Amino acid sequence: MAAGKMTPDLIERLPPVRGRLTAEAPLARITRFGVGGPAAVLFRPADPEDLTQFLAGKPAEVPVTVVGVGSNLLVRDGGVDGVVVRLGRGFARIEITEMTVSAGAAALDLNVALSARDAAIAGLEFLSGVPGTIGGALYMNAGAYGREMADVMNAADALDSEGGRHRLSPDELGFDYRRSALPEGWIFVGATLEGFRGKREEIARRIAEIGDERHTSQPVRGHTGGSTFTNPADGPKAWELIERAGCRGLALGGAKVSEKHCNFLINTGDATAADIEALGEEVRRRVAEKTGVTLEWEIRRIGQPLAAGPKEVRP
Ligand SMILES: Cc1cc2nc3c(=O)[nH]c(=O)nc-3n(C[C@H](O)[C@H](O)[C@H](O)COP(=O)(O)OP(=O)(O)OC[C@H]3O[C@@H](n4cnc5c(N)ncnc54)[C@H](O)[C@@H]3O)c2cc1C
Repeated sequence: MAAGKMTPDLIERLPPVRGRLTAEAPLARITRFGVGGPAAVLFRPADPEDLTQFLAGKPAEVPVTVVGVGSNLLVRDGGVDGVVVRLGRGFARIEITEMTVSAGAAALDLNVALSARDAAIAGLEFLSGVPGTIGGALYMNAGAYGREMADVMNAADALDSEGGRHRLSPDELGFDYRRSALPEGWIFVGATLEGFRGKREEIARRIAEIGDERHTSQPVRGHTGGSTFTNPADGPKAWELIERAGCRGLALGGAKVSEKHCNFLINTGDATAADIEALGEEVRRRVAEKTGVTLEWEIRRIGQPLAAGPKEVRP
């Protein structure tokens, strides 16, 4: 049963909002993989004040899950119970003060990198290659080319599960490789990032190089969630282990291990979330068998599975 059907009256128990509440909202449309079931209720708050009031007024037992633009997310086919929060325009401001960029949590990383470029602020170029939002980047401690959010964040603003506002330092966020220690149920609403004085043309050139490198080495236009597994702390990278285990091009249902970058899984068109997750688990199994290394999922998986018959893995 899809999550939305488990809580048919949920929307009536929620406080009034200025943004939009939608029952049984399909989430496949708002994630890069393009798969998965509905949110019991999808909430698009108008602005931080609207979100604060909502969190303060909603029944405590209703679970809340926040999503960015779903570039590191697999929503399971049975959907997500409770309320899924998607931040939009009211959270996408970008402001520059000297070498500091303040951005709302829904601002796209690319737009932050481009605004920094226009203001001749260097050090944020890596964000141009991460196709997510600032909220997702903070939560995942997104990084590339030797820099990550932990290196550039001055402070982040988050709401706790009751709407209380908190300003957090990098230490308080306990950043680690591709993760932060944001308490369960908290939502980032914005952050200030610090760069350093650079030359506009050099920053622009670096951003262009990053774009070219990505197009050459990654299926950037595909329905994918980016790197599926984190790189182990030492030894070969995840993609090398996957290659060694002979998984490049492996397919299951409509899911496939990318030929271009074998740490990426692709929805080739008609994949279910179950196909993608089962293929990922098969890759983990084969890598462990071949190399002795157990890969850990980087992609966040949310929601409930639907019962589905097994499908065959194809080489
Ligand atoms: C082609 C491609 C290339 C990629 N390259 C990179 C790369 O180089 N480096 C890298 O680090 N990642 C990369 N990624 C992964 C992904 O883009 C990042 O992890 C990104 O930071 C996720 O942001 P998002 O807005 O899409 O978050 P989502 O995928 O929507 O969510 C990811 C997690 O963040 C949480 N989250 C989202 N918003 C908030 C918020 N406001 N408050 C609290 N929690 C929140 C969600 O609950 C979820 O657990 C790539 C992905 C793709 C598809």
